[in-house]
Amino acid sequence: MSAIQEQIFYGRPASTGIAIGKLVLLRRRTVRPSRSRASPPQEVKKLRRAISSAKQDIRDLMANNGTLAGEILEFQVEMLDDEDLIEPIIDLVQAGQRADAAWQARIKAEIAEYRQSTNDYMRARCADLEDMLQRVLLKLDPQRNHRTAMARDAIILAEDVLPSEFISLNFKHLRGIATLQGNPNNHLSILARERELPLVVGLQEIHTQYAAHQNAVLDAEHGALICHPTPKRLAKIKERLVKGRARARGQASFLAKPAMTADKERIQLLINVNNPEVLTDFVVGHCDGIGLVRTEFLFENGGADEETQYRIYARILRWAEGRPVTVRLLDLGGDKPVGNIRPLEEANPFLGLRGIRFLLAHESLLVTQLRALCRAAVLGQLKVMVPMVTRPDELTLVAQLAQKVIKQLQAEQVPCALPAIGMMIEVPVAALAPHRFDAAFYSIGSNDLVQYMTAAARDSTGPEVCALADINNPTIMEVLAGVVRLAKPKEVSICGDSASDPELVPQLLQQGLRILSITPAALGPIKKTIAKTRLKAR
Ligand code: PEP
Ligand code: MG
Repeated sequence: MSAIQEQIFYGRPASTGIAIGKLVLLRRRTVRPSRSRASPPQEVKKLRRAISSAKQDIRDLMANNGTLAGEILEFQVEMLDDEDLIEPIIDLVQAGQRADAAWQARIKAEIAEYRQSTNDYMRARCADLEDMLQRVLLKLDPQRNHRTAMARDAIILAEDVLPSEFISLNFKHLRGIATLQGNPNNHLSILARERELPLVVGLQEIHTQYAAHQNAVLDAEHGALICHPTPKRLAKIKERLVKGRARARGQASFLAKPAMTADKERIQLLINVNNPEVLTDFVVGHCDGIGLVRTEFLFENGGADEETQYRIYARILRWAEGRPVTVRLLDLGGDKPVGNIRPLEEANPFLGLRGIRFLLAHESLLVTQLRALCRAAVLGQLKVMVPMVTRPDELTLVAQLAQKVIKQLQAEQVPCALPAIGMMIEVPVAALAPHRFDAAFYSIGSNDLVQYMTAAARDSTGPEVCALADINNPTIMEVLAGVVRLAKPKEVSICGDSASDPELVPQLLQQGLRILSITPAALGPIKKTIAKTRLKAR
């Protein structure tokens, strides 16, 4: 009898980590339309009841899970509340179609439209719609509801996992997820990263029916699912896990201490915040403040109004307990979703109407955000940062609008203060001459600066282009040093992803950078790296 061979399947890493366990197939709750049929008025009643009960289930899930999950599920509630979507289905049922058949046909057509969208955000909503479709069908025929039992140390293998399926999983026994579909930008990936659960998406050439119950390793650091790993492979993976844990313990001991180089130079370590949810479990004393609040999350479900924004900024400032907080104005366009605002169809969105260009073309958005920020500025050390600045007049226009907003708020007797207004260094003309801009401070957005300096797209998946978009290039390093020198005496920080990379940090410090804004999970490793770095020649 031949031994079962090890097989490796490759996909894309979507949430890093390593899991050892057994494959469990997540059976899609595919529900087919039933054959029984009641009278049209009864069918309409059944459908209305199913929709409202599905809505209640989603609301319960929202109430029992974090804000992020809530925001994702909110989309389904909005769709189920949308009479423009529901009415035509009811009309068909009234005209004699079965409720489940009419529901399925209409929602499938909607999914097909979303799938064809050129917008990543819209395409990522297909999974939410599929989730909603199945949920209502199950309500129409509860007999068909079946759940997958979760074995110990389970690694789920599935075509795809819907957001609400993910939220309902038993995390006690779950070690990782591998899917055939999906991409690292969809909601499943966002939720998995939030839970630090290893996830690989887009697996190639694997047939789910052959794989159940096999021993497996999910290596989400390299985007691989290894079925029937050999004893040698298992031993190596276990060794990596042990080393990883030891590394994490070693780094954790640095967390509570301020960042200091080996020759006692104090480095300010700020954090990047993409969604304020991360602050809930984060000890403020471990960092020196927030160097970048990306405010694009405000637009995930349509634009947030002034009051909502104010409350969010106020919450962040209170969390910071007097430490500096830099909030970046909306940086929509490029690869970032634009919520319900119609973006221009541009041949190259990265070189188009994004960041401050977009905001100046949609002034009411900018004014709303400035009003909320000026109101929040009385609550702490708030700084406002302008993204994608190319010409000095863009910054001047923002400063003038902020002055106008202050006057309006004062006239309305609303407490307010003018925050310091600084800029991102992302565009080469700004990097080469920061002193030409009247900014209160500068922060280097190396993710964009590198792509614009090397003419290599930051979202490219091809190895050739990826290799070019590399900050580790002597010319780019010289430009960074130039920014620090030319901007003096004003403050310069760096908030691009390279500041979270322990291998790059010593070089960044050598260019004169002393303020790094990094992803919160990197605080331990970066503090440890800084402690080993010596800046002065001995
Ligand atoms: C950057 O460009 O480095 C940056 C921090 O901005 P974002 O990644 O949000 O474009
Ligand atoms: Mg950027």
